[in-house]
Amino acid sequence: MKTRKCKYCKTPFQPITTLQKNCFEPNCVTDWINETKKKQWTKKKAKLKAELMTVQDYIKLAQQVFNKYIRLRDAGQNCISCSKPPKKENAGHYYNANNHWNVRFNELNVHLQCEHCNTFLSGNLIEYRKYLINKIGLEQLTLLEAEANKTRKFSVDQLKEIINTYKKKIKQF
Ligand SMILES: [Zn+2]
Ligand SMILES: [Zn+2]
Repeated sequence: MKTRKCKYCKTPFQPITTLQKNCFEPNCVTDWINETKKKQWTKKKAKLKAELMTVQDYIKLAQQVFNKYIRLRDAGQNCISCSKPPKKENAGHYYNANNHWNVRFNELNVHLQCEHCNTFLSGNLIEYRKYLINKIGLEQLTLLEAEANKTRKFSVDQLKEIINTYKKKIKQF
């Protein structure tokens, strides 16, 4: 086998197996053990954290990822309500997320909005509606309206799926 450079002390050594990355001097073996332990602990910590996450935590995370996707999808557009370039970009729901669970993660229901319209004008919905008809069309808005009136509960598995789907979509930008 060809000689390699030790991962830790950088000294060239003659490996015994293909998997050997260090020279097997005591110091380097210690480094190797510590690194392995640290990796295992990081994995274990991530697993414990995931186990402790509640449905509420998953909803929050799903909304963060989904909203980020909306901001990327609409990047460069003006606020859906006031038509100005947003100083601070929000993903604004037309049908309020807390009262309309079924369209909380519906792409037709969420668009780029400035923080002023989203937060201080509570969505600036009359203007929002006007521009939403322009953007998605009356037919889609009618469908959205019907969807918005249905109730919906999300399971952790469904929320995980939403998180994964939108993480993938974000990567495409
Ligand atoms: Zn070494
Ligand atoms: Zn605005």
